[in-house]
Amino acid sequence: MDHQPLVTILKKPIHTIPARLQRMMLRLQRYDISLVFKKEVPPDAENDTSEVMSISYISTARLEELRKQTAKDEVLQALSTMIQQGWPSKEHSLCPTVRPYFPYRDELAVEDGIVMKGHKTVIPHSLQREYISIVHRGHPGLDATKHRARGIIFWPTMTADIITELLTCSVCNSTKPHQQKEPLKLYPVPDLPWSTVATDVLEWHGQNYLVLVDSYSGWYEIDLFRDTTSSALIRKLKRHFSVHGTPHTLISDNARQYTSKQFRDFAKQWDFIHVTSSPEFPQSNGLAERAVRSAKQLMEKSHRDGMDVFLNLLNLRNISRDPTLGSPAQRLLSRQTRSTIPVNSKLLEPAPKHP
Ligand SMILES: [Zn+2]
Repeated sequence: MDHQPLVTILKKPIHTIPARLQRMMLRLQRYDISLVFKKEVPPDAENDTSEVMSISYISTARLEELRKQTAKDEVLQALSTMIQQGWPSKEHSLCPTVRPYFPYRDELAVEDGIVMKGHKTVIPHSLQREYISIVHRGHPGLDATKHRARGIIFWPTMTADIITELLTCSVCNSTKPHQQKEPLKLYPVPDLPWSTVATDVLEWHGQNYLVLVDSYSGWYEIDLFRDTTSSALIRKLKRHFSVHGTPHTLISDNARQYTSKQFRDFAKQWDFIHVTSSPEFPQSNGLAERAVRSAKQLMEKSHRDGMDVFLNLLNLRNISRDPTLGSPAQRLLSRQTRSTIPVNSKLLEPAPKHP
């Protein structure tokens, strides 16, 4: 492997190098390394270096699977040929299996053995059911599942297939009464992410959990909360505040953990206003209560389908409750977070107003 071009690139100012390398550089900066071009590299050192260098290009198992199944899929192979050779002007001259893709022909491309429709990945038939189950993680309801799928994956009958699949979902069917759409604005939405944050403790199957929710994005955190003292609470909150920032206002009830002198000192030191639910703030309870309800539902559904709560939460954080608002991840982090679905890296780039 010739490292000289890399050494040259790494010496350039970071904003002038390609985005993919920028990310790698930012990651490497943590290690305080410097690259030197060596003509004669002993085999061991060569291996070490190329491992560090190629880390961002390693394909994940799921991407490999997608590539393999795409190669095996007759329709997608016929489609790839069509994309590469050019489309006929009339739809009827196409073979029937490829015909459903005709309306999208201008958006279709083949990248590295994977068919793309714009930034969305076209899923081969053998993986379609599995991908529906991934976008359905956490059982967010039909509309939300469709919306999530449309943002990242594609095949012509996808919407109909999602509907069919979800009709028979036992977890969705057994929890239907809770899935009624709630009015969106129970409380004034603040202008900034992580500005108004509410917290509460919930009990589920004999364990306590701390829930923390951002009013702007609807993003919520769930923490197992074994030690329910004020100092344990403060430790947990500090960790979240160090990630998302200290909020302007924190809302809670009057439980003892929140009313100690220690907690008052914490609020002062971290410079946030602590509001406890009272008649002057009738709406404040609503925010935490809704998050507690969502968190409980998530844990209950994850328990029923035997899925990892946090994988489900990862999916839910990428789903918009309202298409005009954007998902919690979009609103809080200004990006879609990477899930277990291989997506074009364009979709993961920070974009403040991305749907
Ligand atoms: Zn379901």
